[in-house]
Amino acid sequence: MTRIYTCFPEGKYKALTLSYDDGKITDRRLTDILRSSGIKATFHLNSACLGASEGHRIPYITEEEVKTLYRGFEVASHTCTHLTMGRTPSAENIREVLKDREKLEELCGYPVRGFSYPNGVYDSSLFDLLKLCGISYARVTGSTGRFDLPDNYMAWKPTCHHDHGLLELTEKFIRTDYDQRLMLFYVWGHSYEFELNHNWGLIEEFAEKVGHRDDIWYATNGEIQSYLACARSLVFFADMRGAFNPTATDVWLNVDGQLRIVRGGETCYFNREAAASVKHSANGTGRIFSQVSENTPSPERGKDFHVITIPSPSGSGKLDAKLKAWRDSRPPKSEGNPYYVLGEPIGDMRDNMDQPSLDISAGVASRKDEICGVPAWICEPEHQTETEKAGRPCFLYIHGGSFVGGTAEAFLNVCRYISQKSGALSICIDYRLAPETAFPDNIFDCLKVLKYLRACGHYVFDRNRMYLGGDSAGGNLALACAQLDYRESGKKKLRGMALYYPVTDLTMEEKEWTWNLSDYEGAAQDPEKHCCQSLKGFEPMILKLYVQERAGKENPLVSPIRTPDFSVYPDLLIASAEYDYLRPQVEAFAGKAAAAGCSVRALRYGGMNHAFAGLTGIVDQARELLDETADFISR
Ligand SMILES: [Zn+2]
Repeated sequence: MTRIYTCFPEGKYKALTLSYDDGKITDRRLTDILRSSGIKATFHLNSACLGASEGHRIPYITEEEVKTLYRGFEVASHTCTHLTMGRTPSAENIREVLKDREKLEELCGYPVRGFSYPNGVYDSSLFDLLKLCGISYARVTGSTGRFDLPDNYMAWKPTCHHDHGLLELTEKFIRTDYDQRLMLFYVWGHSYEFELNHNWGLIEEFAEKVGHRDDIWYATNGEIQSYLACARSLVFFADMRGAFNPTATDVWLNVDGQLRIVRGGETCYFNREAAASVKHSANGTGRIFSQVSENTPSPERGKDFHVITIPSPSGSGKLDAKLKAWRDSRPPKSEGNPYYVLGEPIGDMRDNMDQPSLDISAGVASRKDEICGVPAWICEPEHQTETEKAGRPCFLYIHGGSFVGGTAEAFLNVCRYISQKSGALSICIDYRLAPETAFPDNIFDCLKVLKYLRACGHYVFDRNRMYLGGDSAGGNLALACAQLDYRESGKKKLRGMALYYPVTDLTMEEKEWTWNLSDYEGAAQDPEKHCCQSLKGFEPMILKLYVQERAGKENPLVSPIRTPDFSVYPDLLIASAEYDYLRPQVEAFAGKAAAAGCSVRALRYGGMNHAFAGLTGIVDQARELLDETADFISR
């Protein structure tokens, strides 16, 4: 019998949320504390009180600052004027809620659907009234002292007020290791209480203890309510072989001890046999089903490590049909560019590296620039407001090309699409190539740009949301950059890295992984066989042209798989391709990073070969991977 449990996102079973009322200026300090600990919260505001200071010991925040102050959090209603409901006429209650929603929505730009009862006063006649006003959940006061999900979202009672055993409950929440049920830790209060009671230290200690943990889902009240509503909307097959997700939110399940993601709008089959029995539609999007691979060794630590295999629409065990057709249409390799360096035909190598891609983005502006002397392509969504620009992430991309070739322009379509989907400022750079420029100067080019972007105000983005990306050799350079960036300050300043089939091992010792053609399903014949082997034996050439004996091949800047301490790396998104020579070393690197405690999301794209990410508009999986990347940097 199949046993299915609902999980929070990423397979977690613990969630934390906070709910703070009234919108006083002390929210400024509270949002700072929460933001720096990665904790999410909902703030319930009285829109008619915004800006008021006279007669109040602690003034209200102003309308102008609502959007920026609460960015990344949820703004919800608390009635317009802090009306105590229950002894007031229904029409007045309705007016107070709708007027508050309208004003707050005008300030924030999204529908406001949360509520908390002013002074905690409510009765059951208000439940339907609030629902008719478009409210999906309403918080009451008091403390349950428990970590339960609510039975009634219209009278959602928190775990505790922050003055009622907060730190003891925090200890208990962190210590509990019982994944049979979903746990929600829900804290409420008013930020002005910290000021009046001189106990800001309490919430700081709480944030320090409970923030930035891999096993907790940090969410706003509304995100929790909405995620669980989506999870409840899943439509299961009668024999539990799979489920259809009619919502737009991915839902995570534990199916017989294995994690499964049921993607929004798609049907997920829980095992290979069920999937194989289904005919794939010819116009499928590529994400017919997603599942966590059974044959991937699970690391000892690193709870976020999942290899998610994404089969090609043409079926598993062979090259994707669109990719095959594209390969077949390629002109033969050109020869005759007489540019040789160190005895190697660099001209021909470079000429044969171009990969035409199509622009699948819309509403994105791109332009050429130069950053610290490094040529760059700058991409950003058109028509972003100054506030949106100040809050957006920055995605710095380092292109691949075996260290000797490739251009930023070839990845312009990749960066444009990521900017469109995530709102990020995306920058792709032309670092100097080997062999004319050798290790470590190529890394220094990238690091110089990274540091400049962070230090200088010329490009507007949120300095706490800096991401580094790269494919193949570019992934290797990105990992080296991250090591040096950490070494300088002893701190992880990058928020995350998106690495597409990065070169992680040039030692040729295969200590952490082994390569066998027989490990690739269906690769006994071409074209799969050719794809698996196309990079085989490339290492001596790279060492000769790129490293040029300036470092040992075991140096972690050359072979990041030998990184002595993986805690230098931020959160990682790592993609591998089924028919890529590098796949074993890429997945071994992901496993090592996860075992060392890094947060890793590892994706294996079925039917793909090396360098598929750049084939935007040609293979669907390129867009899939860029969608994943946009999700990753939008967090
Ligand atoms: Zn209140």
